[in-house]
Amino acid sequence: MASSKPQPSTIKKLDEVVVNRIAAGEVIQRPANALKELIENSLDAKATNIQVTVKQGGLKLLQIQDNGTGIKKEDMEIVCERFTTSKLQKFEDLQTIATYGFRGEALASISHVAHVTITTRTSDSKCAFRGCYLDGRLKEAIKPCAGNVGTQITVEDLFYNIATRRKALRSAAEEHAKIAEVVSRYAVHNCKVGFTLKKQGESMADVRTPQNSSYVDNIRTLFGSSVARELLEVTHEDSRLSFKIHGFVSNANYSMKKSVFLLFINHRLVESLNLRKAIDTVYQAYLPKNTHPFLYLSLEIAPQNVDVNVHPTKHEVHFLYEDSIAESIQSAIETKLLGANTSRTFFTQALLPGAPVLVNEELEKTKPSSSGSGDKVYDHHLVRTDSRDQKLDTFFQKPSISESQNVCDKDDHSMDIDENVSTDSKSPTDKSTSSPAAGRCQQKSSIKLTSVLELQKEIEDNVHAGLRELVQNHTFVGCVSEEYALVQHQTKLYLVNTTKLSRELFYQIMMYDFGNFGILRLSEPAPAYDLAMMALDSEESGWSEVDGPKEDLALYIVDFLKTKTEMLRDYFSLEIDEQGHILTLPMLLEDYVPSLDGLPMYVLRLATEVNWDDEKECFRSFAKETSEFFSVKKSLFASPSPDATKENPPSSDQQTDNWRWTVEHSVYPAIKTMLMPHKQFSEDASLLQLANLPDLYKVFERC
Ligand code: ADP
Ligand code: MG
Repeated sequence: MASSKPQPSTIKKLDEVVVNRIAAGEVIQRPANALKELIENSLDAKATNIQVTVKQGGLKLLQIQDNGTGIKKEDMEIVCERFTTSKLQKFEDLQTIATYGFRGEALASISHVAHVTITTRTSDSKCAFRGCYLDGRLKEAIKPCAGNVGTQITVEDLFYNIATRRKALRSAAEEHAKIAEVVSRYAVHNCKVGFTLKKQGESMADVRTPQNSSYVDNIRTLFGSSVARELLEVTHEDSRLSFKIHGFVSNANYSMKKSVFLLFINHRLVESLNLRKAIDTVYQAYLPKNTHPFLYLSLEIAPQNVDVNVHPTKHEVHFLYEDSIAESIQSAIETKLLGANTSRTFFTQALLPGAPVLVNEELEKTKPSSSGSGDKVYDHHLVRTDSRDQKLDTFFQKPSISESQNVCDKDDHSMDIDENVSTDSKSPTDKSTSSPAAGRCQQKSSIKLTSVLELQKEIEDNVHAGLRELVQNHTFVGCVSEEYALVQHQTKLYLVNTTKLSRELFYQIMMYDFGNFGILRLSEPAPAYDLAMMALDSEESGWSEVDGPKEDLALYIVDFLKTKTEMLRDYFSLEIDEQGHILTLPMLLEDYVPSLDGLPMYVLRLATEVNWDDEKECFRSFAKETSEFFSVKKSLFASPSPDATKENPPSSDQQTDNWRWTVEHSVYPAIKTMLMPHKQFSEDASLLQLANLPDLYKVFERC
């Protein structure tokens, strides 16, 4: 009977190559992990410019080129062997190590799961050298070749020898998104270093930051201006716990459905759920329910308090005194948030009719109030008191009046333009350049809805290449009226229909920023019922007796919109409370508040004109109505632009001219950088050539 007992199988030593491959597969789990190691190596090598090129989410190709120190020829033999590093000589060095890598494991690991080629040149070498590696070893002799000072590492066919790992990975698009996330985050943290991420063969970068930039500029480029202008700088040092922190966090004006947390500990990108939760609790008191802040924090902890032996794949870090450090960070951020309040002033007015009240929301919250200069109210901010002048824009509070880290929008735009001129203009129909979201918004939740992607494709399929070139390279001349403006392109002068172009602009912003809009909060909730009644009272609504009593219709409209609250809030930042009050509207463009004369009709048409039955048609019609509401047009009243204060604050009697400021500084710059003009614009006289300068010169010559 003994023979039927199961026998132990013989233990065999695994083939070394297999062991290494398994180990490498653990360290490098996806292309983004490999890239992180490579970026850190480039930073360790003092690079000031890092260019990443990928193909198929990094699985086919992952290439990084830096202008760092390069690798000495004699070291090229062994760089890809395990435990070879130039950064650590003896065990004690672990305690004080300032560079990122210390294990000498990254390149070795990568070479066990991919084909690695290194081309590198040091400053004292006359030429570059190239080596190809497999399983930690050079495949053949190093060859001299041409090349710049610095290092280029090419990783091809990642996981070619681990089928299971390949299968475990999701789509190339997802891997690419992860790579973009890693590059963006390192780009923010290392703002003096220029970063580029490109898909191979495409001319337009997915991520691009200039050298010697600033944290805030890079956050703006990569995460959008709506967050960049709501940032508070946090610096805090705690000698007791021997750590210090520096970073930028969003203030109470800004919130997102998904939190974005860029955390670096001792300059390594990591995750810490504990810290994330701790900070989120602080914001709970300030932000709407279920929304989160943007956080970029760089934490430096005494090396002896960090566990250096943490496995390289452990993104989730732990450190000594974690809870105390978290508390200390909490209070630093809380103080900052409270401090920011006193400089924010909001204006509000009772809806119908009522004396205007000036409310400083934050002071209300944090009484007793301190009256600093931040509370000063300028003339041109005051709400008109004559009830005949009642305007709906008084329901708005400006998203932010805190200009502590105010940015000059003008410079901003001109920078965008420069880039466009140098890269875009050659290929006006290039897909990657045509997305208004390209080059920014990498971190915004990506759109997976096929319907939205289809609607985006419609836009791209209908773009008029010639007009796009014109729009991208125009010079704004001036407004003729709310409806028309003059622009110059090369030697020609055009009359442009601002209403039509801005309507299309807002439609496109809605499609490309779908689900990621900022929020414009009304300072007073606006009852949808009253708005619907106002609309029905207007001639434009076309109401007649046969439609039934207006009151019933208005009630129906409110009830109907209330059934759509979740969708309106989640997709369109349009919040309606249980009483049927509108609380927020989407913010489609920075510094732009639509003329609220249109709000009543907008509310009416949302209920009557939007196709709520079919997803794609719903988004299309909703965006159509919203862009109509947002478009620049002749309004009954002149609306003061909330940002007229940024430059040349207009005096109160100039208020009627404020729309000009907005059109010039907000709308046209956006048209320039984002709009993909529809073919139809070439046929419907939206852009009308008035004169050609050479002809004009001829005219003058005759005079
Ligand atoms: P570690 O970074 O832990 O030292 P790696 O395997 O990541 O280990 O790199 C091995 C060695 O290769 C580094 O110590 C460094 O000397 C060299 N090296 C790697 N990448 C670069 C680079 N981009 N520029 C210069 N040297 C590099
Ligand atoms: Mg390394």
